[in-house]
Amino acid sequence: MDEGEIRWTASTKYKAEYQHANRAWSYSGAKIKIAPDSATTVNDLNYEDFSDARNAAAGVWSRHPGIAATDLIRFNKARMDTFDAATRRMVAAHELGHALGLCHKSGSGKNAVKSVMWPEAARYPDVPTDVDKANYRRLWG
Ligand SMILES: [Zn+2]
Repeated sequence: MDEGEIRWTASTKYKAEYQHANRAWSYSGAKIKIAPDSATTVNDLNYEDFSDARNAAAGVWSRHPGIAATDLIRFNKARMDTFDAATRRMVAAHELGHALGLCHKSGSGKNAVKSVMWPEAARYPDVPTDVDKANYRRLWG
């Protein structure tokens, strides 16, 4: 991310999912612009796929350090392809939340937090909640 925007590229089969994530984090009032990379912009994020049946994660976010740091969101086909569309959307929105600087939220019982940043795919909503938006505002204004 730079200059208040995420410019993305994609080499993934989960197009509906990453489009959902990009839209979900472009809610009214969100400060970070999320837009496709172009010839005149610096790529900030790439969506990719991999397949590893031994990896429990359906999505993995990582950052390649360097002067032009690029975030990677990698979808694990071995997991994603076992999920329904709503759960796949959750995974994509969750991983983009990481790229936006958000960390995992959890809690149990009455302290349970409703958040797209829950660490387990089955538990989180597929769009940012009020909690997520409040945390986003703390980071980005
Ligand atoms: Zn996570």
